Amino acid sequence: MQLTKSILHTTDAYIKRLHEAGIETVTDLLTYFPRDIEDKSDVCEQFSSLNIVDKQVVKCRIELITSENTRNKKLLIKAVLVDWDGSYAEAVWFNRKYLLQQFASGDTVLIYGKPKYEYGRLTFPSAEIEQLRSTRREIAPVYSDLNYIPGIWIREKIVLLRSYLAGNFPDTVPVEIRAKHVFRTRAENISSIHFPTSIEDFERAKKELGYEELYHFQKKGLEKKYALERDSLGLAPELQIDVDIMRSLIASLPFPLTNKQRIVLFQILKDMERPHAMARMLQGDVGTGKTVVALLASVHAILLSRNKNPEWKWIQVAIMAPTEILARQHFSGQEDWLIQWGISSDLLVGSLTARLKIDARSRLASGQTDIIFGTHALIQDSVSFSRLGFVVVDEQHRFGVEQRKTLEEYCSNSVIVPHRLNMSATPIPRSLALTLYGDQDISVLDEYPAGRLPIHTRVVKEERRNEVYKWVDEEVRSGRQVYWISPLVEESDTLDIASATNMQEILSGIFPHLSVGLIHGKMSGKEKDRIMQEFYENKIQILSSTSVVEVGVNNPNATVMCIEAAERFGLSQLHQFRGRVGRGAHQSYCYLFTTKEYKSDRLKAMEQTNDGFELAQIDLDLRWPGEVYGVRQSGVPDMHFADLRDTDLIADIRSDIEEWMKGIKK
Ligand code: ADP
Ligand code: MG
Repeated sequence: MQLTKSILHTTDAYIKRLHEAGIETVTDLLTYFPRDIEDKSDVCEQFSSLNIVDKQVVKCRIELITSENTRNKKLLIKAVLVDWDGSYAEAVWFNRKYLLQQFASGDTVLIYGKPKYEYGRLTFPSAEIEQLRSTRREIAPVYSDLNYIPGIWIREKIVLLRSYLAGNFPDTVPVEIRAKHVFRTRAENISSIHFPTSIEDFERAKKELGYEELYHFQKKGLEKKYALERDSLGLAPELQIDVDIMRSLIASLPFPLTNKQRIVLFQILKDMERPHAMARMLQGDVGTGKTVVALLASVHAILLSRNKNPEWKWIQVAIMAPTEILARQHFSGQEDWLIQWGISSDLLVGSLTARLKIDARSRLASGQTDIIFGTHALIQDSVSFSRLGFVVVDEQHRFGVEQRKTLEEYCSNSVIVPHRLNMSATPIPRSLALTLYGDQDISVLDEYPAGRLPIHTRVVKEERRNEVYKWVDEEVRSGRQVYWISPLVEESDTLDIASATNMQEILSGIFPHLSVGLIHGKMSGKEKDRIMQEFYENKIQILSSTSVVEVGVNNPNATVMCIEAAERFGLSQLHQFRGRVGRGAHQSYCYLFTTKEYKSDRLKAMEQTNDGFELAQIDLDLRWPGEVYGVRQSGVPDMHFADLRDTDLIADIRSDIEEWMKGIKK
């Protein structure tokens, strides 16, 4: 039902503002939820017993209410208040003309706010004020302002919609699940959110509505997962594990696999044995060795399909990375080992010349290429595979929504539906992983190859900067190299680049005898490669970088990571940077520069642990505005009531859904 003037007892102007904010119907307004509730049951009667720290309710009488225009053309309203004892206080508001109509001298009112002392007088700036009535709501929801409509207005008006609750909110969670948990109806819960009878009543409604939100999000994921299983049945390469091939592949590596790598590899191979396409997310901190797992699975699949499974012969594998640097690195790092197994590999990225691209594409289309490494250039229309059977997406969350969609369409439109392995070096708490990757199975790689030294991390206040310079100098003298990350400049590539360029100059001044390079996201692929090459060859000792280039760069000789204005980053992102060092045999160091003023408790967590999953959990617990790194891009919708930290709840909901879906299938 449309909101109207008469339903809300208001003016066209307000209806218009609501419309502009996207609120057109009764249901819209009833789902504009409060951000909090206030407990105003405790009413004080004397100004002398108030404190200036909390918001409190005080009962008093208006002695006089006046208004005047200030010099900067604001309407200032002042009320002189007197309490039960006869003591005086004052309340002031700006631009609240309607108060003059609603309140008059002599009214007994309740003032709700945080007072302060000003010129020896107790003053309430912009406090809430209401007439003392018997119908007062002691537990009151607090609404955020909406398109210049004050939250208080919404609180008053929402009462008028109470009678619409029952018909407008049908239950969306199946009755079986609701019965199991003894949930109230959705309408009852929404009622308890707007009109709570007690804090407990409000909390219960919040919990049950939170369940609903997570339920719907997860259900979508699970439905997608089941749909893929159904649609790819018989169309995905069914590859029975060949233990001999796998053994010899593993034996040909220059190192033994870690236990976790074996476990994860086995999970992947098991998926590929099934008659439908794999959809798996491999999460593993930087340096845990995901690439080799993906490659082993790839080569195994190719060799199998060649030797044993004639219908599926000529399986091709695409390994996609979000940046050219990373794609090139994957490609050039593996070529030799692949050749040894008779596997041909190739590279396809945007910056190749037109000629080279055409060549790469035709080799791919004819089936000459077994494994193609590349960026999203791989899923452009002009590219066709001969028999794409397995797609690995590295740093999956770094791809844009559009690119991910294209890939999905690409996969589902193929003659054979390829297996999909997504990889992410962003360790995220399990609760989030379950929520975000509900459409996939999840593997976790949380063990580092043996011999990896934990990275020594220090938070450095400005005044101790010189000590780090000295240390950097020493490290470089003993042959090591350094990354230097410039502060994040929100939403501005240009400023980002400027700050990294500036940093390069500063560092060149401090270390005149060293070569300081610069790299940033706006450089051409060629340029970046040249810089990275020089960095590998130690022609550059210090690499000044924007925060954009953090993915996957691998130089085992780099042992120092310096991060400017570290407080601007989330912990999990800092952890990503730190993962650039500690990749070789030498002890590595990470320095987090921060200002003297910044309380570095949060950053201290970096000193205390090298475990990315733990840091991500801390990020999540603190609700650091940057959020858990990489999560925002992954498309978690705004959830109003759900607590994304509640792993048990999230896991329970998932099994509720699975159980229920099984039930309806029968
Ligand atoms: P990430 O998980 O960050 O993608 P990589 O796959 O790039 O990690 O591996 C990091 C480095 O560790 C690479 O140089 C790789 O060759 C090496 N590596 C991987 N697995 C092992 C292992 N089991 N033992 C020793 N080194 C390994
Ligand atoms: Mg990697």
